[in-house]
Amino acid sequence: MTATASSELRFDTGRVSLDLLATVSGRLSEEPVDRLDSPRRLTQWLYGTGLVPSGTAVAVDAAWLGRFLVLRDVLRRVVATQLAAGPRDGTSPAALSADDPLSTTPSAADVSRLNAAALAAPPAPSARPAPDGTLVRTLAAQPDCGALLAAVARDAVELLTDPVARAQLRQCEGESCSLVYLDASRGRRRRWCSSEICGNRERVARHRRRAVAAQD
Ligand SMILES: [Zn+2]
Repeated sequence: MTATASSELRFDTGRVSLDLLATVSGRLSEEPVDRLDSPRRLTQWLYGTGLVPSGTAVAVDAAWLGRFLVLRDVLRRVVATQLAAGPRDGTSPAALSADDPLSTTPSAADVSRLNAAALAAPPAPSARPAPDGTLVRTLAAQPDCGALLAAVARDAVELLTDPVARAQLRQCEGESCSLVYLDASRGRRRRWCSSEICGNRERVARHRRRAVAAQD
């Protein structure tokens, strides 16, 4: 395998809340691969997103992991409804009920859970002068779990309530990929989460199909 061993964390969806969703891989029909399977992995993820700047201590334990996984489940369900809806302006009535798997309306319970997570204050950023005089980003205090959850939940609320950003939500067309990303490309015709990963895999598969066809 190339750059995407299935255990690798991804930080290229365009938003931190979608990066959290990207910690589960695979199509919904397949057995998902959970990349966030230990407090150590959650620590790596928090540093990778920049939510916790390198050099800032953070004390992640199993309880933190449990709370992040709950938020991830809520986000997955809510984002699925917004993807199913496609671009819309917020004035047209939703057609399907919240119980439908292809519903375009998130459940009231999930919206409450998301809003509850967004209530806490996110970690306060702080600038610290480096020896050469440049300023380095750090946090004002060691962050607790609720503050970091709030940072992710607030990002999701901002994203999903912004019609422009919401219209850029895409799900990768890769055969074994379900990654949701923001398509900010010109023309909005991006098909893959990453041209180096899923785009390349698709090109290789197409080439192979063509080679097999040529042998017949
Ligand atoms: Zn993909």
